[in-house]
Amino acid sequence: MTTGAAAAHPRASDPDHAGADDPVAMAAALIGRLDRDAAVLLACHVNPDGDALGSMLGFGLGLRRLGFSRVRASFPEPFDVPEPFRFLPGLDLLVPPADAETPALGLSFDAASPTRLGELAAPLQRAPSWLVLDHHASNPGFGTLSLVDPTAAATALVAARLLDRLGVDFDEAIATCLYVGLTTDTGSFRFDSTTPEVHALAARLVGAGAPPAEIALRLFDSRPYGALRLLADVLGRSELSPAAAGGRGLVSSYALPEDLARHDQPAHVLESFVDILRTASDADVACLVKPASDGRWSVSLRSRGATDVGSVAVALGGGGHRLAAGFTADGDVPGVFAAVRDRLDPPTGPTPAAGDGGPTSGPVQG
Ligand code: AMP
Ligand code: MN
Ligand code: MN
Repeated sequence: MTTGAAAAHPRASDPDHAGADDPVAMAAALIGRLDRDAAVLLACHVNPDGDALGSMLGFGLGLRRLGFSRVRASFPEPFDVPEPFRFLPGLDLLVPPADAETPALGLSFDAASPTRLGELAAPLQRAPSWLVLDHHASNPGFGTLSLVDPTAAATALVAARLLDRLGVDFDEAIATCLYVGLTTDTGSFRFDSTTPEVHALAARLVGAGAPPAEIALRLFDSRPYGALRLLADVLGRSELSPAAAGGRGLVSSYALPEDLARHDQPAHVLESFVDILRTASDADVACLVKPASDGRWSVSLRSRGATDVGSVAVALGGGGHRLAAGFTADGDVPGVFAAVRDRLDPPTGPTPAAGDGGPTSGPVQG
């Protein structure tokens, strides 16, 4: 393990770098001023994905490299690391959310709203400083310092910028975590968020020891056979509605708790299914309704490019990005589909009075 924290973050303690208009510099200065035995709590969103866990654990390991001795990480209940992520370095940083105490410094990762942090929002709110690392356009701004970059492909990219500013060298463990975040949120470098900065960071991470083939095999190319049978059911019951979304088409499907039980599968195996629905080239929008842990529904929306599903999700109480978003819903599955369809194609009522300024018909706008 590397120590020598003082030498590792010379710029962090240099106030000249903490320009008031540069939140990354301000965050680095704040971290640089903290005692190395101060309690630090990292949190990421409920049902964490590769970007939530990867950015959080990679950053936590970076803080350890700086000499911080009381770094804890957590995520809301259900506190269970999905099987594909159990190889991640830094899992020893994790504590159950009930054990998370109010820290001197809190950081949240990949959470577009405090709600997404569940029971961890309270200790973060009580912390004197709460840094928000995120990349969701729907993030309204919360915490004491917001490092939200909606143009960043992944929160892992934001975390890497701050680690760089702190002078942390990426070792194999940190690089593996950050690479998991980057590859998850760019769809393996396929989405239009894949900028030169993404590839440059990926190159550095692979250079530092992140194993791309092993990560891809574990994250994207492995599922239990039972999950394949479940996928067959979900695809088999999918429906194509060519007229929906202003004629651009909607493909939708769902999984019920009894489907998971029948195939003896945990809920996380459903996470990749919406991206398979999205391959239907006859529909611009894909929608998958999945059971959430609390008896509600977790709804995933995807667009092939022409529809802003982020604004649809926000209108239905959720969040996300223009082409990948989600929300949580109550009620029955047909009701959830109806709500999505209504948002994609708002019913055209009587013509609004001139100058009413309300939304006009036509494609959903951001
Ligand atoms: P998913 O469909 O779960 O892969 O999520 C796609 C995107 O939407 C991610 O950026 C999530 O953070 C966001 N998202 C999903 N569900 C919700 C929700 N209930 N509230 C806010 N954002 C969400
Ligand atoms: Mn996420
Ligand atoms: Mn993300």
